[in-house]
Amino acid sequence: MNQIEVKARAKINISLDVLGKRPDGYHDVRMVMQTLELYDRLNFKKIRGDKVILKTNIPYLPTDERNLVNKIVGYMKERYKIRTGVFVRLKKVIPVAAGLAGGSADAAETVKAMNRLFHLGLSLEEMMEIGGRFGADIPYCMVGGTALAEGIGEKITYLPDFPECHVVLVKPNFGVSTAHVFGRLDAGALDCHPDTEGVLEGIRNRDLAAIGRSMGNVLETVTVAEHPLLADIKKTLLVHGAIGALMSGSGPSVYGLFAEEAAAQEAARRIIEKKMAKFVRTTKIHNRKKVGCQ
Ligand code: ATP
Repeated sequence: MNQIEVKARAKINISLDVLGKRPDGYHDVRMVMQTLELYDRLNFKKIRGDKVILKTNIPYLPTDERNLVNKIVGYMKERYKIRTGVFVRLKKVIPVAAGLAGGSADAAETVKAMNRLFHLGLSLEEMMEIGGRFGADIPYCMVGGTALAEGIGEKITYLPDFPECHVVLVKPNFGVSTAHVFGRLDAGALDCHPDTEGVLEGIRNRDLAAIGRSMGNVLETVTVAEHPLLADIKKTLLVHGAIGALMSGSGPSVYGLFAEEAAAQEAARRIIEKKMAKFVRTTKIHNRKKVGCQ
């Protein structure tokens, strides 16, 4: 086997709570995560020599060690004394710096692809340990599906499959700095917590309406206040039949959950018509059982 092609899926937060700041500067969180069918594509190929070469379709995305894919390939080559060169082609579809964990998903798939390409025989736990060195969301992205992430995001409890539904994903045309959002939270912006227990119960009962009522993201307190457009997008999604609408991660991506595909498409059409964002996609949630199958 000289090459491998894999899919790295986007994630959304169905619930995101910040419990406090730890002495080491990280935040304790409690998040319900869900993978989507939207994915980046990565192709890994063995090449002559000892170099790591990464090419991507996004001109402004770094391809040297600042890119998690390059960094992890380099780290694993050194740790497992791999003397072969690796060429990676990364086709990004997941918007960058959007609260959709695109970089973390690419990173997780990179660890798994290196394990397969070089027959390293690593267990999932060992791969999660490697991924966790490069980002708190990466261990979750290794398996994906529906999960509760606690600690700094690395303590994963798998949950039953999310009820089937359609998702309208909207990434407005501006970026958001995660560090800025957490800085504002630390300065006292955190005033109410989402109903994560309600979300968990809704998932256990496969009750989309209950999930819609309970979903929440404490980081909206900062990002939505600073970017009122996000509130307008959420409202548009809800007016057009979304069962729930929320910002993912620290934003600026916002999504709506829909029971019917036609309603999802109509909501997406309205958002495009109103020129609220350039990136508007209808997609579906992606449950864990299919993740391994690609
Ligand atoms: P999260 O939800 O995990 O905070 P995000 O969706 O907000 O992630 P990413 O798309 O992962 O953000 O990108 C965050 C930063 O990481 C970007 O500024 C980008 O330069 C850097 N980065 C490094 N590697 C990658 C990658 N493979 N894909 C995207 N961004 C990457």
